[in-house]
Amino acid sequence: MSEAFERLKERERAFMCRTYSRYPVSVVRGKGSRLWDIDGREYVDLLSGIAVVALGHANEELAEVMAQQARKLIHVSNLFYQEEQLDYAEKLLATSHAGKVFFCNSGAESNEAAIKLARRYQKEVKGRDAWEVITLENCFHGRTMATLAATGKHVEGFEPLPAGFGRVPWNDLDALEKAIRPSTAAVLIEAVQGEGGIFPVTQEYADGLAEICRRHGVLLLCDEVQAGMCRSGRWWSFQHFGLKPDIFTSSKSMANGLPLGAMMATDEAAQGFDYGSHATTFGGGALVTAVGLKVLEIMERDHLAERAAELGDRARARFRALGERLPGAIADVRGKGLLIGVQLDMPQDAAKKVWEKLLEKGFILNLTYGSTLRFLPALTIDESDLADVADALENILRQGV
Ligand SMILES: *Cc1c(COP(=O)(O)O)cnc(C)c1O
Repeated sequence: MSEAFERLKERERAFMCRTYSRYPVSVVRGKGSRLWDIDGREYVDLLSGIAVVALGHANEELAEVMAQQARKLIHVSNLFYQEEQLDYAEKLLATSHAGKVFFCNSGAESNEAAIKLARRYQKEVKGRDAWEVITLENCFHGRTMATLAATGKHVEGFEPLPAGFGRVPWNDLDALEKAIRPSTAAVLIEAVQGEGGIFPVTQEYADGLAEICRRHGVLLLCDEVQAGMCRSGRWWSFQHFGLKPDIFTSSKSMANGLPLGAMMATDEAAQGFDYGSHATTFGGGALVTAVGLKVLEIMERDHLAERAAELGDRARARFRALGERLPGAIADVRGKGLLIGVQLDMPQDAAKKVWEKLLEKGFILNLTYGSTLRFLPALTIDESDLADVADALENILRQGV
């Protein structure tokens, strides 16, 4: 470690709340799927800011939109009509069956909006005294109080949490059916779990889930914060399973690094909000929505959903072949599109060593669900980068950790 890096570490300890145990890298610059650290080392970025920088770092087209819009209008608040916001809303809604959108600034906030809308829809539109939201084990929906209660992890020391959240096992329709009560307002799922280890639901579960929700008058909510925006190989990962959620949420990739979130709802479910029901100061301002619009245009123009599907399938095939060459090294390869999980067949400590060696070789990714390597590359990544990381992983596994 250089002296410059050591100084940064000291200042971080001095100034920052103790919330993040950071990777031993200080990033100073990026371009496409490359990052450079404070000592000039180059890295292949297979994490893209945790599925945020989907069009790569320092994207020229987006930089141009940002610069132009910054000189025209950045923010006026949601007290005003803004053409940028409406142009974006129209284009965004055309990617799904949803009819209305509410803009906010993050994934957790978009889920908060979804939970609030589901409760208020049941109460005000349906006249039902239903408030409870059921989630699935190993889910992740955010770190605000309500989304923490929905997630059911990272809660130590923060109790009491908001009431009205319950969890059922993954891919278990009987458990879901049994958990539904007259007080149940909604079921909230990720069609492909991200933080929870890159697990897609099965088609059978998706079909059963939709049927159970319909039969009980319970709203179906999908969290697309990580899997959405073309990453899964479709605009939204629920589209792989023929699901039509009443409400769904998005954030990470929406503005390629600027904070933007959205809660989208069918026209029916959207009736749950009235003027004054919900609000945010920053959500969907002119700058972020102008950038968001360009992101959608580029994704459409460059067929990035199809690209994610193809590159993801080939990358998973590559990791599976690697697993066959090295029996006992890889337990499972999962995912959809460029949301890829490679579960190593070893304890978490050993998996962490593999991750460290990949980082030493200049590959940035992360470890989740114990020993699962998670790949969330930019949708524009060169396929050769995916081949290179598979080769590097093979070399590391052959040498043993
Ligand atoms: C990251 C994530 C969130 C939380 O988003 P923040 O922007 O960190 O609040 C919620 N749901 C899923 C599925 C996520 O991956």
